[in-house]
Amino acid sequence: MKLVRFQVQGKTSFGVLNGDEVTELEGAFSVSVRPLAPRHILSEVKLLSPCTPSKVVCVGLNYRDHAREMGFPIPETPVLFLKPPSSVIGPGDVIFYPPMCGRLDYEGELGVVIKDRVGRIAPDESCDHILGYTCVNDVTARDLQKKDGQWTRAKSFDTFCPVGPWIETELDPGDLLVESYLNGERRQSSRTSQFVFSVPALVSFISHIMTLWPGDLIITGTPAGIGPMQPGDNIEVRIGGIGSLTNSVVAD
Ligand code: MG
Repeated sequence: MKLVRFQVQGKTSFGVLNGDEVTELEGAFSVSVRPLAPRHILSEVKLLSPCTPSKVVCVGLNYRDHAREMGFPIPETPVLFLKPPSSVIGPGDVIFYPPMCGRLDYEGELGVVIKDRVGRIAPDESCDHILGYTCVNDVTARDLQKKDGQWTRAKSFDTFCPVGPWIETELDPGDLLVESYLNGERRQSSRTSQFVFSVPALVSFISHIMTLWPGDLIITGTPAGIGPMQPGDNIEVRIGGIGSLTNSVVAD
């Protein structure tokens, strides 16, 4: 099932996408999945970020090849950082290139959307608490990441977390193709089977640090092939079994 959040005639709703038809749902995904009467054609609605997380928990260096390209050792425990909810945008929205940034990078990543309140669970319980999966771009001010030594500023500008286009609820995350295309040219390509830490391991690990809330988003790290974007560029994150998230870059 593909879950969407969308806007039509100024009203924001949740829905289920079937082919090119969106069926509106009562309430948010976690409250109810009772379908309402209104149906819409996909091309006539504006898709929004499919979740509105209270926090975006990010995993760094979770592909062995990316850790190598960054010159970092393979981590023994997951390396975590946060992006603020204010950085989240939806499919088709623009990424603003901040004036204080000298190099703006894309990072295509698998996003995991949490279904309900989760605290201190074991890895084998994780799947019961995952609503589904989506595409995410962990946009990064690479020069500021290196300059600051810690990552908050580099990862947190408004528009630095494109999410979407929907949440796919029926998917095994164990071996998905994760790709990024810059202006139509493939720049990143790997599979989630290359993860240092699996999705169940990550959800469990994070749940022992902070309570996860419905709609919270975990982004699982990026493969090798990161690179810079310029104003005017189009960046697409494509994940097998989910779909494609495209955004453009605009000078702020
Ligand atoms: Mg990342």
